[in-house]
Amino acid sequence: MNEYDSERIAGRLEGLGFIAGTDIFSSDLVVLNTCSVRAKPEQKTASLLGKLRRNRDKTGLPQAVGVMGCMAQDKGAELIKRFKNVDFVLGTDRIERLNDLIKEIGGGKKFIDTAQGGEFFVEQFGRKKGVTAKITIMKGCNNFCSYCIVPYVRGRETCRNKADIISEAERLIESGVKDITLLGQNVNSYISEDGRSFPDLLAETAAISKGVRIRFVTSHPKDFNERLAEVIKEHKNICPLIHIPLQSGSDRILKVMNRGYTADSYLDKLRKAAEITPSLRFSTDIIVGFPGESEADFLKTAEVFREVEYETAYIFNYSPRSGTRAYKLPDEIPLKEKTRRLEYLLSIQEEITEKRYKAALGETVQVLAESVSKKDPFQLSGRTEYNRVVNFKAEKASPGDMVKVRITEVKKNTLSGRSDY
Ligand code: SF4
Repeated sequence: MNEYDSERIAGRLEGLGFIAGTDIFSSDLVVLNTCSVRAKPEQKTASLLGKLRRNRDKTGLPQAVGVMGCMAQDKGAELIKRFKNVDFVLGTDRIERLNDLIKEIGGGKKFIDTAQGGEFFVEQFGRKKGVTAKITIMKGCNNFCSYCIVPYVRGRETCRNKADIISEAERLIESGVKDITLLGQNVNSYISEDGRSFPDLLAETAAISKGVRIRFVTSHPKDFNERLAEVIKEHKNICPLIHIPLQSGSDRILKVMNRGYTADSYLDKLRKAAEITPSLRFSTDIIVGFPGESEADFLKTAEVFREVEYETAYIFNYSPRSGTRAYKLPDEIPLKEKTRRLEYLLSIQEEITEKRYKAALGETVQVLAESVSKKDPFQLSGRTEYNRVVNFKAEKASPGDMVKVRITEVKKNTLSGRSDY
């Protein structure tokens, strides 16, 4: 979601005549699109703002600085008070304010706008050119998982009109996009203006997108149902990879997290989905070291983790976020122990990935070519339907082509091959 917002911000700034730079210390304008899901990105933002301030004091460069995104939404005026070089703070629902605000920056004026809500804003900016694109279908979240700041910084769930989503997909396809990701915090709770559910939207998008891959992210397990697996089976251009965060395999912890499912109901849904569409694979998010997570709780997570054999997993140490319900719980698990649990799960994931990659050796896979090496015009890179990166040699392919690639070499995190077709 943040990546998509960064794209929106960059598109607007380019539309206003700004040219993207590589050195933020010598730029006229720096806009930081921030994340506050964990403490680390917030610390990074604070550190960068401090460096920018010291650089401005040293060089005297009249640089404007804006903070946007979740941290801006959460901290608001506090950022302007703490960092004297911050000129404006815009919340998660205020991206469109950039246009009028940019003209007024300077002369010591400060701007803050963190208002939330209102209509779903349909972005009209010039998108980054490429073969992949994202379409936001909803914003906010109503789930209030006890550890999560998102419902507070992104507001309540709002779904975008289906007609707008479909016409955005059509525009992207016309412009040459070959891989579209439908984005939402919890796509499975999407409801369109005419009362249709997410599987209906997915089916309709896939039907108008012949020859274009469709992906979606994120699926909340409590709202996930078999109909989604049926739609994936019916439409060959929908990638059979579902990102479905488990977070914990312990029912006791899931309850405190307010996740709305048990480990068994989670596994049951995944098994049924895989029965309907055997090609389905899953990816996940896991939090280790949540308050009160015992060794026994953690081992239950490891058990589910082994059973599902995720395609990829994003594993994080629990990070208390002020304002959430879990913040009030004692964060008593030492960092060393959290890290041990994290590394244990990572080692399981490495085994699974290694096994899958080895099995892929000699296979022929469909790869959407996304980029060409600067050094060698016959060396390309792309992704499979399971989002695996494949580097390959091909004499005739270019970005946007769907290419059959025979996997000839497997390294720890890379697949390499060649296209003989
Ligand atoms: S579903 Fe839970 S974890 Fe995901 S955004 Fe909503 S509150 Fe946060």
